Amino acid sequence: MIVLKLINLVTGGAGFLGSNLIYKLLSYGEKVICLDNFETGQKNNIIKLLNQENFQLINHDVSVPIIIEVDRIWHLACPASPIHYQSNPIKTMETNFMGTFNMLNLAKKNDADFLLASTSEVYGNPEVHPQDELYKGSVNTTGRRSCYIEGKRIAETLSTEFKRMYGTKIRIARIFNTYGPNMSVNDGRVVSNFIIQALKGNPLTVYGDGTQTRSFCYVDDLVRGLMNLMDSDFHNPINLGYPKEYSINQLAELIIQNIDLNLKIILQPLPPDDPKKRKPKIDLALRELNWKPEVNLKDGLLLTINYFQSILN
Ligand code: NAD
Ligand code: UDP
Repeated sequence: MIVLKLINLVTGGAGFLGSNLIYKLLSYGEKVICLDNFETGQKNNIIKLLNQENFQLINHDVSVPIIIEVDRIWHLACPASPIHYQSNPIKTMETNFMGTFNMLNLAKKNDADFLLASTSEVYGNPEVHPQDELYKGSVNTTGRRSCYIEGKRIAETLSTEFKRMYGTKIRIARIFNTYGPNMSVNDGRVVSNFIIQALKGNPLTVYGDGTQTRSFCYVDDLVRGLMNLMDSDFHNPINLGYPKEYSINQLAELIIQNIDLNLKIILQPLPPDDPKKRKPKIDLALRELNWKPEVNLKDGLLLTINYFQSILN
């Protein structure tokens, strides 16, 4: 009997989410092409896969067109950490606009399924709490986060217009803060920063007064959500995230309790345009994808601490 395997293109596959997704796809026996320009991705995340028959790596920038045969495109390529996406904002916009345009054209040529990794950042600094998919967002075209936020907003618009004009089979995941193994040591986002600082015995750097909130989803749950979405017929934006919020002070305390009670916190200035609060409503994902997160923050942090312990030693 011949078993036909789907060819999955994962853009940004050497990054945090992309590499976790690739391991899961390969564990189901699927074929994977990882496309990455290594702007923030790490070879280490995929090095173990380079000899696998079902895995192929293409070093390429999504803002340059490419023609390959694929069945499904998981479009994750884009730096996600504020310090990285703000370090070259024009490149971030090019990746989001040209990169998404090129990957949608590739989906159209192949009649492939297409999933966009969008973000909760499209809600900006939200006036509605928690955020559901009907909320249009409170955003700013000229702030420090705008290159990423407006980039993702246009990527959602492009995807939607490809569906309207050409019937491209799109999916749009609005991903809320996610953490776990394969985040890079110099990623700069809060969970990896705090864990690395704590493991090195350094004080935890809380920006502002630490009362701002985020909702932290463990990566395995998020990857399962992306897979459920790709397998569904749902084509409108959908939130994927952990439906409980924590202040940054609470997160710091949890990490201190799990690593070393003697650790200190130091306050540093709040970066400009830092959203005050964020928490998803996930009723739509529960109804349409039968999805909700299963790993609580304490357990997810322990798994992530173990990961960073293993790579720092
Ligand atoms: P990451 O920075 O770890 O990974 C991004 C990957 O994309 C990297 O491997 C990088 O090298 C690659 N990349 C960047 N620009 C590229 C380009 N022009 N061409 C080819 N490859 C390119 O980030 P992540 O956390 O894994 O995020 C993945 C996706 O999910 C991003 O699109 C991000 O916006 C989205 N997202 C992530 C989160 C989260 O909490 N992790 C939240 C919301 C949205
Ligand atoms: N943050 C912090 N210390 C750090 C890194 C981040 O207090 O070392 C704060 C940051 O100001 C924000 C929150 O933690 O309020 C989440 O930051 P992150 O960069 O992880 O994600 P985003 O702001 O994009 O949601």
